[in-house]
Amino acid sequence: MTTIEKPQARPVGRLVDQFERGLDAPICLTWELTYACNLACVHCLSSSGKRDPRELSTEQCKAIIDELQRMQVFYVNIGGGEPTVRPDFWELVDYATEHQVGVKFSTNGLRITPEVARRLADSDYVDVQISLDGATAEVNDAVRGPGSFAMAVRALENLADAGFADAKISVVMTRENVAQLDEFKALADRYGATLRITRLRPSGRGADVWDDLHPLPEQQRELYDWLVAHGDGVLTGDSFFHLSAFGGSGGGALPGLNLCGAGRVVCLIDPVGDVYACPFAIHENFLAGNVTADGGFQRVWQGSDLFRSLREPQSAGACTQCSFFDSCRGGCMAAKFFTGLPMDGPDPECVQGYGESLLAGERTKPTANKDHSRGVPLTLMTRPPSRDCDENPLAGFAPTTATGCSATGCA
Ligand code: SF4
Ligand code: SF4
Repeated sequence: MTTIEKPQARPVGRLVDQFERGLDAPICLTWELTYACNLACVHCLSSSGKRDPRELSTEQCKAIIDELQRMQVFYVNIGGGEPTVRPDFWELVDYATEHQVGVKFSTNGLRITPEVARRLADSDYVDVQISLDGATAEVNDAVRGPGSFAMAVRALENLADAGFADAKISVVMTRENVAQLDEFKALADRYGATLRITRLRPSGRGADVWDDLHPLPEQQRELYDWLVAHGDGVLTGDSFFHLSAFGGSGGGALPGLNLCGAGRVVCLIDPVGDVYACPFAIHENFLAGNVTADGGFQRVWQGSDLFRSLREPQSAGACTQCSFFDSCRGGCMAAKFFTGLPMDGPDPECVQGYGESLLAGERTKPTANKDHSRGVPLTLMTRPPSRDCDENPLAGFAPTTATGCSATGCA
């Protein structure tokens, strides 16, 4: 059973130390409003597809927003599934912004019609992130599904035409798209958008394709070099800090916290109100509590046993001997966990190559126990996804006029 202790006041100190010990409120809170999605991206970190019948109601979501306002959480990253398929999506966005909680939401563009784009352009507190995992339809649609590239580009066009300033194009970097970095940047420039690139984690369905899809060692270097040369104005969500070791022990770290923020400054609220340490760690080992069963989000964030332990100094094992440890910190907790590597050892994409040798050895990957996939997901690069109409993933939602696919699990 989850133990939630009464929150304690914490002394102030250096900012970085405060981050390591955790903050009174997260600075990067992801809230997946629904697991429903009518796409089946091969690498969906939340294994989305089917709506969970226990999904939080509108009133429960508003109660969370009230709490975020009291905690002075300045903004939330809303994702899914495809969040815009919730009939109350815009009501919740409005409610959040009216309560001083800014919203950045991830979508594949499904509902970003010209009318919606105009409405978004009128708001100062809503940011839009369009998911796109290839700079061409061929590369994108191989992982996100047929037609998803065209839909995303249409959304970008609608936003640009409406005068929406600075939409984000959000790209998960894979073996297939590292060579397209310049094209992604050009695409973002064309629509007055900002490019955001993030790391492919072996989470959710991503665990099944990670071996085939994660960038090769030489591509990791290419990615690092590209960020050093062109990274100004490109967002990364601080997700490539394991590559900072390419910069050597004398500097060259990529900008960012260079720290695993799981349970310290980062967390996830899932569609049923479960709170996880990180959006890429949807597994019972990283479940801190539930907002409805455990007395609210603040109590979970500030008092859960799991988060308290993550805020203690963590053992980094052999990595502490590495001359790059200060910039890399042993890498990503979730990447290690879902590839079956020791938590106190190197990242599976360790730039020193230690991850490669560990991956080649004996390891047991954890079984996925939070799967909302429907039917057979898209099989990587080999065949198109099962048809959307085979099963309605949006069962329980009011019908809408929009059609097509969406997946924003790759926040
Ligand atoms: S587990 Fe990985 S993705 Fe999550 S906060 Fe830590 S480093 Fe980032
Ligand atoms: S050995 Fe550990 S600290 Fe050094 S580069 Fe690899 S993952 Fe990072």
